[in-house]
Amino acid sequence: MAKKKLRHCSFCGRTEDMGIQLLPSPIDDANICTDCIEMAAGVLQMDLDDNFSEQDATIARAKAASGSKAGKKAQNSGINKNIPKPVEIKQYLDQYIVGQDQAKKYLAVAVYNHYKRLAQPLEDNDVEIEKSNIIMVGPTGTGKTLIAKTIAKLLDVPFTIVDATVLTQAGYVGEDIESLLTRLLQVADYDVKAAEKGIVFIDEIDKIARKGDNPSITRDVGGEGVQQGLLKLLEGSVVNVPPQGGRKHPEQPMIAVDTKNILFICGGAFEGIEQAIAHRLNSSFVGFSTDQKTRRIQRDSFMSHVAPQDLRTFGLIPEIIGRLPVLTHLLPLDRNALRQILTEPKNAITRQYTKLFKMDGVELVWEDSALDYIVDKAIEFKLGARGLRSIVETIMMNTMFNMPSNPENKFVVTAELCQEQLDSAHFDANAV
Ligand code: ADP
Repeated sequence: MAKKKLRHCSFCGRTEDMGIQLLPSPIDDANICTDCIEMAAGVLQMDLDDNFSEQDATIARAKAASGSKAGKKAQNSGINKNIPKPVEIKQYLDQYIVGQDQAKKYLAVAVYNHYKRLAQPLEDNDVEIEKSNIIMVGPTGTGKTLIAKTIAKLLDVPFTIVDATVLTQAGYVGEDIESLLTRLLQVADYDVKAAEKGIVFIDEIDKIARKGDNPSITRDVGGEGVQQGLLKLLEGSVVNVPPQGGRKHPEQPMIAVDTKNILFICGGAFEGIEQAIAHRLNSSFVGFSTDQKTRRIQRDSFMSHVAPQDLRTFGLIPEIIGRLPVLTHLLPLDRNALRQILTEPKNAITRQYTKLFKMDGVELVWEDSALDYIVDKAIEFKLGARGLRSIVETIMMNTMFNMPSNPENKFVVTAELCQEQLDSAHFDANAV
């Protein structure tokens, strides 16, 4: 028996057994799939002149595949005329982030300059303002991502946070460097021009440091090779970005993105970098009888003395360091800072719970001793600010379960309650 011929889309060539929906032509045996219809609708909505390029088709296809409404304008394509001043950006950050003044200030200036650079008139070609990518160094859970996220709320350029740990050298398992820009394209709704003015926060940059001093001993697919690839992006070049990311769609056509104006902010814990800083500082102080000074430095935390050469010692290649000219640090959070984080920021954890309870008509009161207990536990478990939330969550779980069915309209969180709840929940610090 003759095998039934599968119908196919006359535009993309896919056959009906590939899970597509086909619309037949009424006059001959041509068909069009719904994806191609969406793509065509997208093309019609784009500001196209008559030379519709391969890239336009790829973008339209990616938009259709991502479920983006055809022709929806990117929310972020414009540049705000009222650029917030650095002081205003910092004041905004202050509402959410405790301490970390230097990092907040540096970020505020960098973002402000980013806007100014984008706004520089084209005819003014004698001085070109170059971008200043940033690197933030600081222990985990001290607010690097929070600063980046908070700034994102204020911006009207596309902004995305990506993780460097997933990257590997081209040809190896993992993501190619170019996929860092996929998310940016997506948040810009595939408006390439808008994405080319965006900001990318690369988290855990320290994880792509070169392992060991001699790179030739082992094949370092997650280290130097990735850094070399990243360099291309940081320097500014036209790169081919997989519109749907990853390697799941190996056949997908690429979208060309120029990274010249994309601002990169990198963050990393650089665990153990204090030793490198200490080593450098101590050796440079030798012979200057600066014991007292050295002691002060120790007290202040070495982190505030981080310099480009420490990043090099850690395993970043000099070319990368050169492309991240703004270096700032975040300090470890002490007891005081943790206590403040618990109660003071605009969306502090305790405030969030107070609001949740208020919605049920219950007044929630936090006793000071309870707050001290929570901070003590976060320190004891070495969880830093990241752990505060899980501790509070564990403590409040039973109360959140029972309270809505309870006639009481006031609830007091005491240190005793905290201890009892944590003990009975067998709180596991390692699971955080
Ligand atoms: P990292 O430095 O590892 O990127 P995060 O910014 O992700 O740390 O911090 C984890 C969580 O801890 C944040 O979501 C926030 O709740 C809290 N946190 C950390 N640092 C601060 C800070 N300086 N001010 C306010 N909250 C903070």
